[in-house]
Amino acid sequence: MKTTAAIGIPKLFSCQFEGKLLDAFPFEQGYTPASAEAYIDFVKQELAPQIVNVAHPRYIGHMTGPVPPLMHELHGCMALFNQNLVKLETSGIATHIEREVIGELHRIFFQKGEEFYKYYTPDPDHCLGNITSGGTLSNITALSYALSKKLSNPEDPSASINNIGLLKSMVNKGYTDIVVLGTAHSHYSMNKAMRLLGLGYQSFIKIDPAILKSAEGRGMLSGMMENYKKAGTLVLALIGVAGTTEAGIIDPLEMMAEVAAEHDVHFHVDAAFGGAFMFSDKLADKLQGITQADSITLCGHKQLYLPMGISVCLFKSPELAGYSEINSHYQARKGGIDLGKYTIEGSRPFSAFIIHGVLRLIGKEGYAEILESNHDRARYFGELVAAHGSFELYNTPELNIVLYRYVPTWLRTRVKKGTLSKTEQQELNRLNVIIQKRQFDKGSSFVSYTEIPDASGSGERVVWLRAVLMNPYTSPQDLQEILQEQETIAAAVIL
Ligand SMILES: *Cc1c(COP(=O)(O)O)cnc(C)c1O
Repeated sequence: MKTTAAIGIPKLFSCQFEGKLLDAFPFEQGYTPASAEAYIDFVKQELAPQIVNVAHPRYIGHMTGPVPPLMHELHGCMALFNQNLVKLETSGIATHIEREVIGELHRIFFQKGEEFYKYYTPDPDHCLGNITSGGTLSNITALSYALSKKLSNPEDPSASINNIGLLKSMVNKGYTDIVVLGTAHSHYSMNKAMRLLGLGYQSFIKIDPAILKSAEGRGMLSGMMENYKKAGTLVLALIGVAGTTEAGIIDPLEMMAEVAAEHDVHFHVDAAFGGAFMFSDKLADKLQGITQADSITLCGHKQLYLPMGISVCLFKSPELAGYSEINSHYQARKGGIDLGKYTIEGSRPFSAFIIHGVLRLIGKEGYAEILESNHDRARYFGELVAAHGSFELYNTPELNIVLYRYVPTWLRTRVKKGTLSKTEQQELNRLNVIIQKRQFDKGSSFVSYTEIPDASGSGERVVWLRAVLMNPYTSPQDLQEILQEQETIAAAVIL
């Protein structure tokens, strides 16, 4: 276990940036002082005290972390520049910066050679990824672009799905159905994608993650794909999660990539949360296989600590987005460099500037430092919970999410043996939910909770308290006191 002193404040949080660019605000400030003061009063007196303090070191229940000072300034510049990345005429150099940033992220994940990036990064006829406003949109982008590719018709573009729609192109290709495969703990944004693409929630086939990880996983997955094919069903994509939102669990990406490739199925990795671990040479091994994905979702506003609303969807093949290219006569013209021809969104902010800035100022090494420190913090908390008689740890944290629950004295033996009755299980669930709610209401610390199907496959759901360790200011003492408070609350509830 690392000592308290060894878990310090990483460079990312101490690095500041000169505020000079912000001083160049070009407009006159023409507001009446009285109303401005009144507004400032409102912000200070009424709004600010009610803003959720996502940066509080004892609020460790969410994936929305503190934003380092450097980001405030970069974000200010972004608003000041106000570039619109939809087309070159409103973005100029910013278009090139966005391409450069996507190329750099692509290299971290897909590790192609120098020549590849030299050619494809700036090439208007190719696209290595999209910067989006969130992980949800990145997941939707990946599935949508995979669908356009699968149901394209290179010999006769007028007969592609983009032109004739889903139903007719399925009939033309002889498919009776379409499914997407993924583990049962896939993010719910997959359902949004299924709905928007007209495929329906039901067509997302949920695989038991434990079986997939077991020795039978490969055979089962391969067999499923085979059977669907025989039945005339198109398996559009396989989704692997690199760091589930609930527990930070990583699917067996390497095996999934291999099976998907054997069956010519698009393999998408949802690394919205966990993808950042690729920045650490020490921890990147946890994501083994991600390099073989066809597309990857990564959220900047999670573990890259960017302000809300910055994610990416990376495409392994520079050709993928071409199947979804869309043109108009006044922008995003054929052959042009406008990025809008490859994105679902139209007008988009110059978020690439912030990524560009942090890659220069913090770099891969700076991020590695913070991710490793988060990982240490999670390990520490996991060990603290495991060593504590009153709590049960769900599993050794793979990344930096820790699931655990409070167990009262009289249930401890049966929890250990796994012999809880259904009623006792429900009682335990209720108790943990109450602990979570009361702690939140008390207002000095916060963990979240989630429900996960129990290991026996009975269909019963088990409540786990959930801590996301991504605030560098969360000290070992904070963690000890959070547990202490939960124990005190539990004692009061039980009495
Ligand atoms: C957060 C998350 C998403 C969704 O990202 P948003 O930015 O909230 O849209 C998708 N998948 C996973 C695994 C996530 O953790």
